[in-house]
Amino acid sequence: MNINNAVALKMISWDSTKGEFISPARPDFIWGDEGIKSAECHKNPNHEPPQENCTCGIYATYDLIIAEEYQRRELNVLMLVESGGKTIIYTKGWRSQQLRFIAVINFMPKENPLYFKSQLACNQASDYYQLPIINLKTGLTVMDIFNTHLLSYYQPVSTTREIALDLWRQSNELKI
Ligand SMILES: [Zn+2]
Repeated sequence: MNINNAVALKMISWDSTKGEFISPARPDFIWGDEGIKSAECHKNPNHEPPQENCTCGIYATYDLIIAEEYQRRELNVLMLVESGGKTIIYTKGWRSQQLRFIAVINFMPKENPLYFKSQLACNQASDYYQLPIINLKTGLTVMDIFNTHLLSYYQPVSTTREIALDLWRQSNELKI
């Protein structure tokens, strides 16, 4: 299926040695400033990611707790991202052919000792990707609005956004 604008969260980390933003899960993966990132499969060159029976594709989650688990270094930045191209939708996120950053989320609570460093990292990401910095509540609201809209095409339309989201989160995978 091809879905555009499925919105989710993704943590990236600043690597001060490389002077680049990298993937916390795969530190050799650099998040350059090219805008759209396309997935490649390292297991099978014939794959057009994401393949059902493979792990290829770019991952993102709707779940803040999952996204926060990817803080591997001191300077982490939470990005609001959207999918492009072929996308597999899961309960807690998606795996897509392409991914684009749409905003930098200022997610670190003020009480956190890393708050000041986090602000520096947010500013750096905002400059590097030329994207706005938004607060966490705004980021999560935007994500829900976009995804509820998207959901209405593929699930029975519910009377409230909350019911629609619940249905969506309970389903293992939407058959599109
Ligand atoms: Zn693959």
